[in-house]
Amino acid sequence: QQQMWAELLEHGSWKGQSWERRASSEAFPVHLRMRVIDREGGANGGAHVLVTVSDLSTLQQKDAQLEHLSYHDRLTDLPNLRMMELQLEQAIRSSDDPLQIIWIDLDGLKRINDSFGREQGDQLLAAVVERFQQVLPPGDLLGRIGGDEFMVLHRLQDSRSDLLTLPEQVLATLHPGFGVGAETITLELTGCLGVSLYPEQSRQASTLLQYAATALNEAKRAGPDTLRLYSPEMTETSRRRLELEIRLQRSLDRGDGLYLVYQPQVDPERRLVGCEALLRWRCDDFGDISPAEFVPIAEASGLIQRLGAWVIHQGCSQLAQWKREGLRPPKLAINVSSQQFSDPRKPVAELIRLSTEAHGIDPAELEVEITESCLIPGAEAEQQIRLLASRGHAIAVDDFGTGYSSLSVLSKFPIAKLKIDQSFIQGIDAHPSLQEIVRATLMLAEGLQIRTLAEGVERPEEMEFLRTHGCLAYQGYLFSKPVSAADYGALLAAATTAAVPATASQAATESGGAGSVAA
Ligand code: C2E
Ligand code: MG
Ligand code: MG
Repeated sequence: QQQMWAELLEHGSWKGQSWERRASSEAFPVHLRMRVIDREGGANGGAHVLVTVSDLSTLQQKDAQLEHLSYHDRLTDLPNLRMMELQLEQAIRSSDDPLQIIWIDLDGLKRINDSFGREQGDQLLAAVVERFQQVLPPGDLLGRIGGDEFMVLHRLQDSRSDLLTLPEQVLATLHPGFGVGAETITLELTGCLGVSLYPEQSRQASTLLQYAATALNEAKRAGPDTLRLYSPEMTETSRRRLELEIRLQRSLDRGDGLYLVYQPQVDPERRLVGCEALLRWRCDDFGDISPAEFVPIAEASGLIQRLGAWVIHQGCSQLAQWKREGLRPPKLAINVSSQQFSDPRKPVAELIRLSTEAHGIDPAELEVEITESCLIPGAEAEQQIRLLASRGHAIAVDDFGTGYSSLSVLSKFPIAKLKIDQSFIQGIDAHPSLQEIVRATLMLAEGLQIRTLAEGVERPEEMEFLRTHGCLAYQGYLFSKPVSAADYGALLAAATTAAVPATASQAATESGGAGSVAA
């Protein structure tokens, strides 16, 4: 106050913030502007001062509101990502007490928004938040950091014990599903969750967030309703994946490094009855990469659509090429990833129609291998699978037995063939538990009038067991490894008459000469 007056008298003016009282005696913030208009003209020789008072209370309210909005999510009023970062930094500055950073990603919200409307989706989110809050101990902080992403800063009592207790509880709150309307419909959500640890894994907020995100990614790869605790190897593998993704994209752009190999399929007399096209990638910097590694990368990054289109085109074009050479290739099977069914712009059924038409391929010549994960009634894939089958493509279910398809689901889809996964085949002659599963599968298939093929047959004993139990088609190193297009062409030329000899496998390497397979 004194300073204010001193300044006012010295400079003739003063402005700044102060407090006033309302008639009700409530204090409120004001902005004051004061100007001396007459130094001596007042009563008792005092100065005349003009004071302008602006009430700041509403302005400050607005400001606080704005600030709140920029740090909170509008729908749930939970802290947003910025706020969570600040809180984490604050916690790190103030103590060494162990903290868990839990990053949660919900799955299925988009579908619910699309089919039930945003309002319903918003209500669902509110219900999710309520359930989360019920399991969080007091002192933990919950934030909404994206449309369907949440974060928890969880105080650990002891950094080692029960590391996964709370994350598991959080995940479990999503089940059972959420009732809507008059509780007649239940909406199902799944979620994934990644966890990082302070101070054990890092003392930096940004690093801890990144670790939690990396762990979340790993969880997502493992499937719905999983959680992962960050580990340093994850960073290494995720770096490699990123490196590979960049190079795979480049290979696709340039159209080099990718090629197909062909693995023969035979009947009990070892006669060629078909083949499977398998994708290969020779990366400039990393050498040969297995499809078991790069296909999942392509799926996770969205590159699978282009990659899959390339396979379809290449398979059809090669088939046409063999026919032009006067060869008569039996059915060629191509692998289609479940994600290729969910591209609304280029449905895979349409890609296949265009490619077969362009190359003059009869749909009966091209088999489509799908995975059990495509067999969800009502999902996008179903209609396309029906369309493909109705055009005359055989639909084969790959790696059968590793998924969860039930008998009733199988019978609902137009399936022509089950490819029994190699994990059930290898060593089958010596493992009664495998025998039981495979016998049941063969019986089931027979009942549904679906053909069967055994994958990964490596030993004559395996083939013998399968043959005596009614499996009549085989694929595996016992007959041939996957071979190049030229080698398969040579095999075709010979196979019109001869069977694939039993000794072929010993000499055959994947890129091995035609002679080793067909001679
Ligand atoms: P898949 O479709 O089940 O293919 C069979 C895999 O088993 C192939 O591995 C093949 O080389 C291997 N194999 C064949 N016979 C034997 C055997 O006797 N013993 C053993 N141990 N293995 C055998 P590959 O070529 O490495 O492919 C792995 C997986 O990558 C494929 O499994 C398939 O899921 C995926 N894949 C390959 N090409 C494509 C493609 O063009 N598109 C898509 N979406 N996925 C593909
Ligand atoms: Mg396959
Ligand atoms: Mg398979």
